[in-house]
Amino acid sequence: MLLELIALILAGIHFGIPLTYYLYLKSKYLNRPWNIKIDENYRPKVTIIIPTYREAKFIWERLDNLYAQKYPKRLIEVIIVDSKSDDRTIELAKEWASKHPDLNIRLIEEDRRYGKLHALQTALKEADQDSEVIVFTDADAIWEPNALSNALSYFADPSVGSVTGSISYVVPMNCGRYLENTYREFYNLIRVAESKKYATPIHNGPFLAIRTNLLRKIGLPYYAGSDDSAFGSLMAFSGYRAIQADNVIVREPIRGSQFRRKIRSAQHLFLSFLKTRKYAKRIKVYRYTRPFEEIWKIEWWLHVVNPWLLAVSTLLLIIEILLYESLTALALLGVGLIFLTLTTYRTWILQQIYLIIATIKNLWTKEVVWKK
Ligand code: GDP
Ligand code: MN
Repeated sequence: MLLELIALILAGIHFGIPLTYYLYLKSKYLNRPWNIKIDENYRPKVTIIIPTYREAKFIWERLDNLYAQKYPKRLIEVIIVDSKSDDRTIELAKEWASKHPDLNIRLIEEDRRYGKLHALQTALKEADQDSEVIVFTDADAIWEPNALSNALSYFADPSVGSVTGSISYVVPMNCGRYLENTYREFYNLIRVAESKKYATPIHNGPFLAIRTNLLRKIGLPYYAGSDDSAFGSLMAFSGYRAIQADNVIVREPIRGSQFRRKIRSAQHLFLSFLKTRKYAKRIKVYRYTRPFEEIWKIEWWLHVVNPWLLAVSTLLLIIEILLYESLTALALLGVGLIFLTLTTYRTWILQQIYLIIATIKNLWTKEVVWKK
C-alpha cells in the first residue's frame, strides 16, 4: 500500500505542476499587454540566414516564400549557407537567385558538413555591417506573408533581444486533427504567456530573429550539443526580452522519422536547460532578472526532473502488480492507460518518454550532425 501511495503522490506532482503552471500563465499573463513599444512602421535592415543540407526539395519554395514577405526588398539580404549538399540544393538556389535579381541573395559553400550551428556561425560573419536584425530560418519552413514585418515591429523597443515564431504544423491530407498540433497549441500558449511575463527559454528554428549587435556582442550559444532552441535563454539571461509572438505564424512540414527528430529535439532541450545559464555566466553576459529566473526554474524542472517522476511512479506500480499482485496498482495503471485515448494526454506522455530517452542518449551522443 505504501508503494501505491508514493506512486500516486509522484504522479500527482508530475501532472499537477505543469497543469498549475499552464492555468496560472493562461489566466494571469496570456491576455496581458506586451509592455513593449511595438511599432509597425519600424523598418530595420534585416539579414535572413538559411542553413541548408540536402534541401533540393524545399529550397525553391522557401525562397519564393521569402520573396512574398510584405517587407521592402531593399531592406533584406538573404544568406544561404550550404554544407556540401550532394543533391541539387546549390544549383537550384543559384538558378532562383538569377531569376530574382531584385533580391540581395548570397550563397556560402562550406567545405564539408560541420552541423547546423556551425553553418549559422559561418553565415553570421558574412552579414552586412549595417544589418540590424538577423533572422535564422530552416529550409523547410514557410512563413505567413506578414510574419517578418510583424516580428520586426517588436524590435522598435530596445529591451527586445529576440523574437521567435509560433509554429503550426502542416497537416497531411485526411489526417484530421494531427497529434503534433495539439502539442503545439499547448506549448504555444505557454511560450507566448511566458513571453508576456518576460521571456521564453525556448526558441524555434523556423523563425528566429535576433538583434544583430547583440549577436555580435554575445554570440550564439556554443557548448557541445547546443542548438537554436537555446538562443532565447541566452538572450534572456543577458537581460533582454526573448519573446515568442502570437502574430508571427510559421508552418513546418512533418518529415523524416518523427521519432528520431523528437528525440533529437528533446536532447537539445535537455542540454539547453543543463547548460545555458552556466554558459551565460561563464561568458560574463549574465544579468539577474527575477521574472526570467522564475520561468527558468519551472521550465528546468519540467524538462530535467519532472519526466522521471512519471517513470518512477509507473515503475512502482508495475513492481506492486508483479511482486504483490496489487489490484489497487493495477487499477491505477489501468486508469493511466485509459487516458491515453485523449490526444493531449497522449502527446504529453509521449513527450515525457522522448525526454527520458533523450537524457539517457545524451550520455553518449550529442547529435551535432543528424541524418537527412
Ligand atoms: P528539424 O526541423 O529540427 O527536424 O531539422 P532539419 O533537419 O529540418 O534542419 C533544420 C535546418 O538546418 C534545415 O534548413 C537544414 O537544411 C539545416 N541543416 C541541418 N544540418 C545542417 C548542416 O549540417 N549544415 C547546414 N548548412 N545546414 C544544416
Ligand atoms: Mn525542419
